[in-house]
Amino acid sequence: MPNQPQSNYFISLDEAKEITQSIKIPIKEEIITIENAHNRILSQDIFSKVNDPPFDNSSMDGYAVIYSDTIQATNNNPIELKIIDTIAAGTTSKNKLQSGFASKIMTGAPIPKGADSIIMVEKTEKKGQIVKLFHPSFQNYIRFKGENISKDQLILQKGTILTPRHIGLLATSGHSKISVFKKLKITIISTGDELISPGKKLSPGQIYESNSYVLEGLVKDTFHFPIRVDVVQDSIKQLKTQLDKATLNSDLIITSGGVSMGDFDIVRNIMESDGEILFWRIKIKPGSPPLFGKWNGKPIFGLPGNPASSFVVFKILIEPWLKSITHSFNNNKIIKAKLLEDIKSKADFQIFNRVYVENNGHEMVAFTKTHQGSGNINSLTTSNGLTLLPPGVGGAKNEIIDILLI
Ligand code: AMP
Ligand code: MG
Repeated sequence: MPNQPQSNYFISLDEAKEITQSIKIPIKEEIITIENAHNRILSQDIFSKVNDPPFDNSSMDGYAVIYSDTIQATNNNPIELKIIDTIAAGTTSKNKLQSGFASKIMTGAPIPKGADSIIMVEKTEKKGQIVKLFHPSFQNYIRFKGENISKDQLILQKGTILTPRHIGLLATSGHSKISVFKKLKITIISTGDELISPGKKLSPGQIYESNSYVLEGLVKDTFHFPIRVDVVQDSIKQLKTQLDKATLNSDLIITSGGVSMGDFDIVRNIMESDGEILFWRIKIKPGSPPLFGKWNGKPIFGLPGNPASSFVVFKILIEPWLKSITHSFNNNKIIKAKLLEDIKSKADFQIFNRVYVENNGHEMVAFTKTHQGSGNINSLTTSNGLTLLPPGVGGAKNEIIDILLI
């Protein structure tokens, strides 16, 4: 593609996705301990080192017995067995259970040889070394070796984002260290003469800068490492300095602002003169002017400055791309909901309206709470979803459509 994109040409979201997917960010692996594994991404498949459970054990506090000894037991006619030993969790019994005998057993303790069932303590009465049973024993209170997981079974796939439950499974299956993807370093640069940091006093014409904070959090939500730098004024020289610095210490650069048709849209200007543009402008609403390319060989996303636009482009384009780099495909949060209002279409454009989705007691419904202006950050916090509609298609009231939960 020539460096100067045609000013009247927008590509489809699918084309944009194809182009981003064709750029692979090299990603390394590192070994970490499971204490540090929360929210890290597995870089290799994991197989269990053990059976879970590793041995047959009791799921109840009670007595390990021989079922045929207990069949006749009732409240009125209890049967009596002689207690030969007590098996605590973490110990084993050396005895082989014979007919007429019982082993007192705790939850998690191994089933002694000869026993085939458990009677829970609530259905018994102990007198000295004799136990009375008021009910036949239960075979399903034995948890059998390997019934949860068998040794060498594939338990977690490469690309899995490790949450506490996954880490529990790693521990159960004997893994103390695992291989994960190194976090990508992603530099975030906001541009605009009008932007100042919250906390300072606004002068006429100024607004508080917010995109860099949003993008920093969104990068963390993809489990990578954000490097948020100070706002760059609409100065080509300043931007060049920051971009050059970013190429040295990051894997990806995300800018916000300066990619439209304005006189001071410096990200577009500098990319046209000194960068490599792979696409500019997508048929989506909000967020149509994003730019993607390379600066000094490093991938760079130029997001639009409007807060709703930059958020939406991150969610629909950057996040899926980052997920594909770490093979993390299976955690999409797309649900179906009924629209409570019409959503306007725009020829060829995909509309990502910010909607609120809730269960109204009968079904999932979606509606907008605020106006959909791309500068309205409040539309993001009063919503929990984005409408996913095909290109050129709006939504009709009562239609059931896909919603991406945000
Ligand atoms: P631009 O894409 O630079 O033309 O900016 C579009 C709109 O978004 C303008 O109203 C900017 O003031 C606003 N804007 C740009 N960057 C930011 C930012 N980092 N935080 C909040 N608003 C921004
Ligand atoms: Mg600007």
